[in-house]
Amino acid sequence: MPTLSTAEHIRNLRPYVPGKPIEEVQRELGLTDVIKLASNENPLGPSPLAVEAMRNTAAHAALYPEGNAPALREAVSALAGMPPDTLVFGNGSDEVLHLMALSYLAPGDEVVQGSPSFAMYELYTRQMNAVSVKVPLANYTHDLGAMAEAITHRTRLVFVANPNNPTGTLVTQSQVDRFLERVPDDILVVFDEAYHEYVHHPDAPNLLPAIRDGRNVAVLRTFSKAYGLAGLRVGYGIMRPEIAETLNRVRSPFNVNLLAQAAATAAAQDSEHLHRTLVVNNEGREYFYREFAQRGLAYIPSEANFVMVDTGRDSREVFEALQRHGVIVRAGAGLGLPTFLRVSVGTMAQNRRFVAALTDVLQEMPLPEK
Ligand SMILES: *Cc1c(COP(=O)(O)O)cnc(C)c1O
Repeated sequence: MPTLSTAEHIRNLRPYVPGKPIEEVQRELGLTDVIKLASNENPLGPSPLAVEAMRNTAAHAALYPEGNAPALREAVSALAGMPPDTLVFGNGSDEVLHLMALSYLAPGDEVVQGSPSFAMYELYTRQMNAVSVKVPLANYTHDLGAMAEAITHRTRLVFVANPNNPTGTLVTQSQVDRFLERVPDDILVVFDEAYHEYVHHPDAPNLLPAIRDGRNVAVLRTFSKAYGLAGLRVGYGIMRPEIAETLNRVRSPFNVNLLAQAAATAAAQDSEHLHRTLVVNNEGREYFYREFAQRGLAYIPSEANFVMVDTGRDSREVFEALQRHGVIVRAGAGLGLPTFLRVSVGTMAQNRRFVAALTDVLQEMPLPEK
């Protein structure tokens, strides 16, 4: 075989490990009835209006989509209350993160982030041969004071998942205000609000005024979670127009496909489906809290559509055992919290099935000696 050398900063990267697909578990374990509460997807599925829009658009799939997504732009502009030229759409908000790394990172630059947090921050940083500076969470929450301390003259970007994934915790408006006062104004601070719609905290931050004021702040949101369109890959960033213009230089021209644009445009206008989604999520989250508490299991109160629960055991073993019961969750071992499971809130039927399976599994699996 001919040789081919991989760039050194790529050689050591490990690919992102997604939640296991249902089909894979069915194949591997010979199960038929499998549920997935592993990737924070909407258990109600997409908005019926989005499905209808895709159906109506399918026959036009021979045509390229409009590269600047005008209908979607208008719908999201109305939804977010921000001017159209502050929006950058991506193939998932993942891609907008990637565009930020491509636009602003050179080799040796530093990116400050919390740890554990969303895995893609580090991946996109290291792909640019830049350095990921990981600041441990405090009490499972971003420690913005420590993150401000971690900023150096090499820092270009800061990523704050708010609510955080995998912990579901939120930093508040007052914490964010204090942080932004300390961050030098030539650094772009990115608030990844993938779970924005689920937040119910009274002091939840609103970063849109800072963007309107011309600060180097960006907000990322997505149609993958509350809007139930994860399979279509649509997300967006909100930022001042000059930053949006920079990202547009590295964006591939047709990055949000025709069906995705149509579906997301319809979903953005379906407030009823969103409302149902939030009701189901609140009910499921409260149910999990009650059931965990009854079983003496500690959990992290969540501002999102998933909950981290401490099983006290090796999460990989609990994960494997749950899988044999046909329930796919996420093991905290891969997320920096080795005894925790991350479970997405499902329908009440799915939530009950998970709790029943977890109860069985933990009974069979004694707590390790301290
Ligand atoms: C799910 C998620 C995303 C990515 O969502 P897509 O829009 O599907 O790419 C981004 N950030 C966090 C924290 C997430 O949990």
